[in-house]
Amino acid sequence: MRHYDGFFKHGRGFPRFQNRSTFRSFQYKPGDARIDGNRIYLPEFGWMRFFNSRTIPAGFEIRTVTVRRKIDGWYVSVLIRDESVPQIPAPKEIKTVVGVDMGLTKLAHLSDRSDFDNPRPATSKKGKRFLKLRQRRVSRKKKGSKNRKKATQIVARLHKKHVDKRTAYQWDVANQIINRADAIAFVNLNIKGMKAKCKPRPDDVNVGRFLKNGQSAKRGLNRSISDASWGTLIDLIEYAAGKLLKTFFKVDPKNTSRTCSKCDAVDGLSRFGEKFVCTSCGYSTHADKQAAINIKRRAIENNGLTILVVRKPRKVRQDLPEPKQLSLFETPTPEPTGVKRRQHRAVKGKRDVPGNLPNQLSLDLWGNVGCGYPHESHL
Ligand SMILES: [Zn+2]
Repeated sequence: MRHYDGFFKHGRGFPRFQNRSTFRSFQYKPGDARIDGNRIYLPEFGWMRFFNSRTIPAGFEIRTVTVRRKIDGWYVSVLIRDESVPQIPAPKEIKTVVGVDMGLTKLAHLSDRSDFDNPRPATSKKGKRFLKLRQRRVSRKKKGSKNRKKATQIVARLHKKHVDKRTAYQWDVANQIINRADAIAFVNLNIKGMKAKCKPRPDDVNVGRFLKNGQSAKRGLNRSISDASWGTLIDLIEYAAGKLLKTFFKVDPKNTSRTCSKCDAVDGLSRFGEKFVCTSCGYSTHADKQAAINIKRRAIENNGLTILVVRKPRKVRQDLPEPKQLSLFETPTPEPTGVKRRQHRAVKGKRDVPGNLPNQLSLDLWGNVGCGYPHESHL
């Protein structure tokens, strides 16, 4: 009854009915499932073949296993953990820090003045139109009919396509960002708060009815925020940074877009949309880049970091490669002895070859907490 009260008395949404399709995944506790090559043992089901997309590195134990149904099949994601991976405290002296500010017109602005596009798979003009057409096909079919079910699956497939596109792009952006610096600083976003619904406005004249509260306009913005999925990007960067033993900072977002990075004056009037013109000193720049610089500065100040100034040694000979810095888990590659260095070309489908394992090992480790990112494989 609580949910109906919410609808009738407090202006919340109508309660959703739960049915079979509400539950699309189930989990096994640590120790229940086992993996042997491309076979997985799931209690109640027995041994099943599956597509093993990533090998589990040696030393890791299998924790929770989740089986999930998606539109194009069943997926299993495996959480792995290795207690022996050491916890490394964040260093106080670093060479480079990059601040990142997230947005909608551009997905991210960096303090080094570069930016990343926001592809908006679901909310671009094209994405919205495709979704609308597919959804219209559903609504034109008779309720409860087989054709309606088929049309619904086409919509679901389109949604999954958007998700896959977004994830692939975000991994790319995450890897590019962490390669820019030794430490990455982000704002602590309250995405749930940003996406919150507008407060319902009860109508005093017609008791029990509600006045317009601007929610329909807000909905579009919320969809854009979901489509950019900043939270996932931050998670991916935090994960990827941990693997390479890079430091990850979250700072308070308050006033990052209102503070002048030249004279520290805080004024909301300094910002005009994408432009930032300081009302105190007249310094003008791009508003989001300015915010990224403020985020970087805040991370340095709050964490008491010392930025080591490194002068690049003068190169004596052009053909001598600079010694590459290796992270803890990377295996050193032997220096080329021949005159010509052979290009290492990635061959499709060769990732699971045992010879490639050391390379992949560095990819699969989760350095800071000694815990693996869930492996997701097609069943
Ligand atoms: Zn100023």
